[in-house]
Amino acid sequence: MADRRPARIAALRDSLIAAHIDGLVITSLPNVRYLTGFSGSSALVLVTQRDLYFITDFRYDTQVGEEVGDLATIRIEQQSLWTGLWNLAGSLSGLEVVGFESSHLLHRDFQRLLTDGTRWQWRPQVNLVEALREKKDADEVALIRKAGEMAISALKKTLGEVRPGLTELNVAGILEKALRDQGSEDFPFATIVASGPRAALPHARASTRVIEHGDLLLVDFGAQYKGYCSDITRTVVIGPASEEQRAVYDIVQQANAMASKSVRAGMKGQDADGLARRYIEDRGYGDAFGHSLGHGLGLEVHEAPRLAKSVETLLGEGSVVTIEPGIYRPGWGGVRIEDDVHLAPGGPEILTDFTRELLEVA
Ligand code: ZN
Ligand code: ZN
Repeated sequence: MADRRPARIAALRDSLIAAHIDGLVITSLPNVRYLTGFSGSSALVLVTQRDLYFITDFRYDTQVGEEVGDLATIRIEQQSLWTGLWNLAGSLSGLEVVGFESSHLLHRDFQRLLTDGTRWQWRPQVNLVEALREKKDADEVALIRKAGEMAISALKKTLGEVRPGLTELNVAGILEKALRDQGSEDFPFATIVASGPRAALPHARASTRVIEHGDLLLVDFGAQYKGYCSDITRTVVIGPASEEQRAVYDIVQQANAMASKSVRAGMKGQDADGLARRYIEDRGYGDAFGHSLGHGLGLEVHEAPRLAKSVETLLGEGSVVTIEPGIYRPGWGGVRIEDDVHLAPGGPEILTDFTRELLEVA
């Protein structure tokens, strides 16, 4: 893989000029990882037009050398990362106005900016690095695709073992073990396994509920590979599906297919959302689809862009988004089908290639 970090840092420097700031202090760990490759949990990065400073603590002494190398000037700080920044600031000249990431700074740390250390003027910034992260390069798309393949393999294995009498937590355990066996580094979010009436709760976590014959079973989870996440949902029936289950499923399946096929870079987020929503509304289930159609995906499981009713922002070319229509009926259950889609220049590419037909398992 080519080293994309210098180009990313160069693009960020252009953004600093546009934002009229001399430097930016980066505290978001996914943003740090995107720019430098560092995968640890303690880092503060200062980007200026000339330099890149990386401050971490002694636990990461070896790791930062391996992952960041000579891309940045590395400082290992014994006390706190902020003390490291103040010490550094004393030796820097030519910086007057410095930005900080206002979405990723604790209020406690913000107060330190105002009271401690430097004579810089601080300017809150949002989305400078996130905006760059929205457009995925070929390597990033390949990593998300790989994370999707891991998730699909784990799902196949799990569906082969699901049966009445297991709890949702049992199923989550089988799935998470399979994800680890596939090489998933982590679980991007708490695995959702929702059965029977609990499938009507869009964000139910796995519970002790015992799965019964005839249940809908909704599974929403992801894998993580080299930092990049996948996010997939399938809904199956335990045993033969009823007519009603099949009817609801068919609507969600159609909505998923239409949106996955038609979503394009350059569309407004709300228009993408409408691709699936209109179809569901026309079939009388508009009120039962209470969440947005999807979200961007990458180093974080929720990132730019958003596909939702109120979003007028355009979907960026090269972004990877989820398409996840659902229908939820309290007391009855729910169906969601979620895929990850790359908005390539030539049109959408589905990265999670696993059947969307209604599976009757066990
Ligand atoms: Zn999901
Ligand atoms: Zn999702």
